[in-house]
Amino acid sequence: MARSVLSSAHFQNEEAAFAYVEARLWPEGPICPRCGATEEHIGKLNGKTTRLGLHKCYACAKPFTVRIGTIFEGSHLPLHLWLQVIHLMCASKKGVSTRQIQRMLECSMKTAWFLTHRIREAMKDGGIGPLGGEGIVIEADTTYIGGKEKNKHVGKRTRGNIGGMGKQIVHSIVERDGRVRSHHIPRVNGETLRPILEAHADKRSALMTDTAGGYMQIGREFARHEMVDHGKDEYVRGDAYSNTVEGYFSILKRGLTGVYHSVSEAHLHRYLAEFDFRHSNREKLGTDDVSRADLALLGVKGKRLTYRTIN
Ligand SMILES: [Zn+2]
Repeated sequence: MARSVLSSAHFQNEEAAFAYVEARLWPEGPICPRCGATEEHIGKLNGKTTRLGLHKCYACAKPFTVRIGTIFEGSHLPLHLWLQVIHLMCASKKGVSTRQIQRMLECSMKTAWFLTHRIREAMKDGGIGPLGGEGIVIEADTTYIGGKEKNKHVGKRTRGNIGGMGKQIVHSIVERDGRVRSHHIPRVNGETLRPILEAHADKRSALMTDTAGGYMQIGREFARHEMVDHGKDEYVRGDAYSNTVEGYFSILKRGLTGVYHSVSEAHLHRYLAEFDFRHSNREKLGTDDVSRADLALLGVKGKRLTYRTIN
């Protein structure tokens, strides 16, 4: 096999994979997932028959590995294969299909599907802190994913469609030259937009939107609010435009249409987390494929999804 990024030891060798994940999740040494005991109370079990990465906590007398309490828990997939999938999902701008993962790992579609959804959970940033801030311009807008074209507002129509999915509304807030945060909303009005803007947009920002009624009232609470009237064919007026968020929507749509053929309504929020994560940690902002995968890896803690919670 020719050398590639995936030739690195932690993608090929289980022991190296454990070392890689432990170094990132336990930068200060191992921590017991059950009682929180630290390094001085923990021993590493090494023996021919011992499972890789097995540690023992002498405070609570229980064995554990770095997989416990993370998205890796309860999965039979070797850690180095998990790392390969995380890397691919972090490095592919438009995402990787479940089918492709299934072929790569020679696993079932169900396993591939479950695995990728767990990784999407790891990519959720938890919405820590609002976007924007003083002197920062943010754009907010909605787009329709899937559904019948003829039912849409003229300015929102797109070519193509997504099989298996009705018309879903996605709202995104983007910082110009910065991060993005998207939500799946049931309808566009003040009731749905206000809580999102309250939680995710810093009111010291300048807010750019279209003339959707839901933005009017809350818009007054921002340092500045400019609206462009797409209905009147107005798209740019000085720094009032929504090209940044529109550009993001086009990546999202191409990705969802081309790679994920049957995104169902219940899981859309996880796909949004995946696309948001890649955009907020893109090359232009100084994150390369390796550091992006490492960031996703830091998100694996405390996000253990069971098959039941996903379905
Ligand atoms: Zn313990």
